[in-house]
Amino acid sequence: MEHLLPRIARVPVRTPTLAPATHTNTWVLGEGELAVFDPASPYEDEQRLLYGMLAERIATGERVTHIVLTHHHHDHVAGAEALRDALGGQVPILAHRATDERVDVRIDGHLDEGDVLEVGGCILDLMHTPGHAPGHLVFRDRDTGAVVAGDMVAGIGTILIEPGDGHLGQYLESLARMQKAGPTALLPAHGPMLEQGEAVLAFYIAHRHQRTEQIRQALVKRGASTPLELAEAVYGGVIEPSAYPIAAVQITSHLQWMREHALAAEDGEHWRAVS
Ligand SMILES: [Zn+2]
Repeated sequence: MEHLLPRIARVPVRTPTLAPATHTNTWVLGEGELAVFDPASPYEDEQRLLYGMLAERIATGERVTHIVLTHHHHDHVAGAEALRDALGGQVPILAHRATDERVDVRIDGHLDEGDVLEVGGCILDLMHTPGHAPGHLVFRDRDTGAVVAGDMVAGIGTILIEPGDGHLGQYLESLARMQKAGPTALLPAHGPMLEQGEAVLAFYIAHRHQRTEQIRQALVKRGASTPLELAEAVYGGVIEPSAYPIAAVQITSHLQWMREHALAAEDGEHWRAVS
């Protein structure tokens, strides 16, 4: 367990997540009383590793009082039941209602925008931040200003906005609201802690708009019109062709955003620029 800030520690656990990431960060907040965010791994060896690290702290008199899920994706929730069992079955698992609707895990209580979670000396202000996943929550620690950011940002790789779970317009709005809250560090689910949280969020927002503009320009040129063709046009030479299908998913979110803003129209699989 790596202590990065006062009362904030990180345990990366191996998960079946999206490359290039190979691990999900389980964040452990508090002192004396502990909240465990995203006990993520479905693998028994990794679950034992996490429990072993918590057991060391429990042996010194601390206890786990909350298990919290940032959102419903498998690479965030897959170890939650196992951890509750290992801890004796009494620790509540908390999540947003929209997360509860999407997981097999038994959720014991719901959290939402405006809630305050107090645990082990941490006072955490909650924000509901849909866009990557409908029930996504982030948690801002009043003392340090650090934010448990789940999959809103990543220290490695990019955040996938998949139509269905995700919505680019909502995602951009949530990023802007996170930025307004004035985070210091961001504690992402994948990769290292991101210092300069506000600047990182500004970059994420700008980057998404740049990507939309690239896609719009590709449509204007009329060489590419399906999401897969656009993936090659926009990412060709940057990513492996094997990654085009996943890029096409991301591009579809951008196309839908453009449609909502009257910048693109679709005809079946084919898209064209408008105006
Ligand atoms: Zn996710």
